[in-house]
Amino acid sequence: MSWLKRERAGIKTDRNSRPEIPEGLWTKCEGCGEALFQTVLEQNLWTCPNCSYHFRVPARSYLGYLVDPDSFEERDAGLEAGDPLEFRDAKMPYPDRLLAAQRDTGMKDAALSGIATLGGKPVAVTIMDFFFMGGSMGSVVGEKVARSIERAIAERRALVIVSATGGARMQEGILSLMQMAKTSALLARLQDERLPYVSILTDPSTAGVLASYASLGDVIVAEPGALVGFAGARVIRQTIGEDLPPGFQRAEFVLEKGFVDRIVHRKQMREAVGGLLEFFWRSTRGFAPADGASPHADAPRSATVVSPGPAA
Ligand SMILES: [Zn+2]
Repeated sequence: MSWLKRERAGIKTDRNSRPEIPEGLWTKCEGCGEALFQTVLEQNLWTCPNCSYHFRVPARSYLGYLVDPDSFEERDAGLEAGDPLEFRDAKMPYPDRLLAAQRDTGMKDAALSGIATLGGKPVAVTIMDFFFMGGSMGSVVGEKVARSIERAIAERRALVIVSATGGARMQEGILSLMQMAKTSALLARLQDERLPYVSILTDPSTAGVLASYASLGDVIVAEPGALVGFAGARVIRQTIGEDLPPGFQRAEFVLEKGFVDRIVHRKQMREAVGGLLEFFWRSTRGFAPADGASPHADAPRSATVVSPGPAA
């Protein structure tokens, strides 16, 4: 007799009583191929416990990993893109594409902005969302970044921007490209104000965003394995007519070339950026302007300025 083959007809399996594995409970790691339990992935902030592969996460999730709990206040939430070029791609008009992305992500556009504390230090933060039209930078993302920089200056905060982007948004043409100049010019003002900017590069951080604010950080931190580059590898290969070295444009490769300062695992990101901000906080007497005092109550006193006491 066979244990596996049904020899008698008429035996029916009740398919409804079979335990079903709910869809989406397991996720296959793109790094090592291991099937990972989603709760395990969530505990590991969506990094693989076996091979450290970093999954892409929505902006809201990243925000939770980065800033101090319950410290975030959203700003510029209502900004929405117009369609000044009346652009239509191969499939649909731009407004339809925006609506679809808004429905899928619950975001108005590809970035989330606000104020928060990180390691107890006041920050203005913008986090990009790759799931909204590939994290592309149009006028809304550019404006959100610009306003974060202005807020950092007005309120004497450090600036933290997390990039996750394929670059400029083609549907807004030149208006997208203009954001590169706008944000870069404002970052020069931030530097004049002696306020620190930490740029965090997640997978991918490329093209027009990398060619502007993402690469202008005082410190540039990348997640392991993140794609970091301007033009795509295929375009470069075709242009120079040569094969590219292994690992080209990955975070580890650009670290070796001096383009990023540090690679930090997502689970250590809060601590690492907090440590950087602590350094800047101390060296600027609590993000104080060159000729003034810090507006933050718990700012460290300057070691060099001694208040005149009563004469002995
Ligand atoms: Zn893995």
